[in-house]
Amino acid sequence: MSRPAFKRILLKLSGEVLMGQGQFGIEPETVNRVAGEIAAAKDAGFELCVVVGGGNIFRGLAGAAKGFDRASADYMGMLATVMNALAVQNALEKLGYDTRVQSAIPMASVCEPYIRRKAVRHMEKGRIVIFAAGTGSPFFTTDTTAALRAAEMNCDALFKGTSVDGIYNADPKQVPDAARYEEISFDRVLNDNLKVMDASAIALCRENNIPIVVFNIRETGNLAKVLAGDGVATIVQN
Ligand code: UDP
Repeated sequence: MSRPAFKRILLKLSGEVLMGQGQFGIEPETVNRVAGEIAAAKDAGFELCVVVGGGNIFRGLAGAAKGFDRASADYMGMLATVMNALAVQNALEKLGYDTRVQSAIPMASVCEPYIRRKAVRHMEKGRIVIFAAGTGSPFFTTDTTAALRAAEMNCDALFKGTSVDGIYNADPKQVPDAARYEEISFDRVLNDNLKVMDASAIALCRENNIPIVVFNIRETGNLAKVLAGDGVATIVQN
């Protein structure tokens, strides 16, 4: 995969990644393994920040479908991301890495509030910053949060860890000969309505010229490989 060298990256972890083999919640072994992936990337010299989702615990849309008011359900979803952020922080600190969790919804006794300049400083000092509580506003997703924080932190790329190894022209779980794109443009992703991240996240990355690298985070050692340029992934760029 040909691409520019990245120095500072944002990693988006969906809640589902932390579920492991389970159907719900946080699986400690999986969180430890994901922390190991992040640690390896850090060891390779990258500045790292992480946005965690909450879909393994609560999704606003699902809550709204069951009758909760959408805004309240979204706040519940954002609180779910804080639990995931603490789990990832804990696993990283056990491995000996310095971390900070910053929440977009201030929670003084749990973690720092989100302060952009402080987050940048943490990264410069070698700390891994984990962003929790999404944007702090309902009606958004943590994909959009990832694009927003990547822009705010001046990240060179957004790495989206999923359970597939890139973007395909059809669902590889349903269509056996589906082909993976090595590289694809933001416009194509939007026009073809490819399910990578939501449209507002794609548009934000396009506008700020931040490439999105979609890769499989379930495979051990893969993040470091993809960062080194020899892993399997799809890069979305202008
Ligand atoms: N959420 C929100 N505003 C945000 C980010 C997230 O309201 O800025 C809520 C929304 O309800 C969402 C939930 O938090 O469903 C969990 O985030 P998401 O679904 O993006 O998590 P993921 O799919 O990545 O696990």
